[in-house]
Amino acid sequence: MDSTFPTRAIILNRRDWREADRLVSVYTPDYGRLSLVARGARKAGSKLAAHLEPISLSRLLVVKGKGFDYVGAALSEEIFLGIKQDLNKLYFAGEALRNFSILVQEGEADLNLFSWLEKWLLSLEAAGEKGSLDKDEGRFRLALFLWRLFKLLGHEPRLDVCTACKAAIKPGNNYFDCNRGGLLCPDCYSSNLKISAPDSMVPISDNCIKLLRLASGNTWQNLKFSPKILKEWENLNFQIISWLY
Ligand SMILES: [Zn+2]
Repeated sequence: MDSTFPTRAIILNRRDWREADRLVSVYTPDYGRLSLVARGARKAGSKLAAHLEPISLSRLLVVKGKGFDYVGAALSEEIFLGIKQDLNKLYFAGEALRNFSILVQEGEADLNLFSWLEKWLLSLEAAGEKGSLDKDEGRFRLALFLWRLFKLLGHEPRLDVCTACKAAIKPGNNYFDCNRGGLLCPDCYSSNLKISAPDSMVPISDNCIKLLRLASGNTWQNLKFSPKILKEWENLNFQIISWLY
């Protein structure tokens, strides 16, 4: 890397740093996730601060430092006003970026991941009648975001066969094993119980398996689902994240 380089960056979050600075976490197309110091960003009238708001896309000039790298200059490209003007969109965008920061390690550049994140934010920005997002749709979008993120990070769950015995999954009494990253048939669940702690294994309903198979494809726009299955999916995502990190 040169001592100074330009990059586009999605601002993930920021926190106060030293007396007047901020530490900003960003995701970039060519360098992956970076933590950058924005000098003086907490001072009134800071020229940098307005261009480093979380949930925005900016063009940055990054200056290599001995410890941390610095933001030399910043210019907003997309501030996602449609997200910031709707409380539900703002909440779900915040949750998505918070989980993204947990799951995506620093220093792993992935252009596809960047493009996908940018598209997801643009889609959320445009969602909803008259710009306001229904809470259940927001929950669904977040669940789907996490599911796609698992896949993009190489943790795509297997949903066709049992991850232990490789037999095709039949309806009834199946489990999701976070440790193996896929489904377990009832027989393998029973024998697995004898050798390992059950806390990595979550019961999963047939309808939830169906929903997840559809979600893994590209037909989610037409998905119909009940609040109960959505709750089950949210819980499963939470378990997977807890298990992974
Ligand atoms: Zn099995």
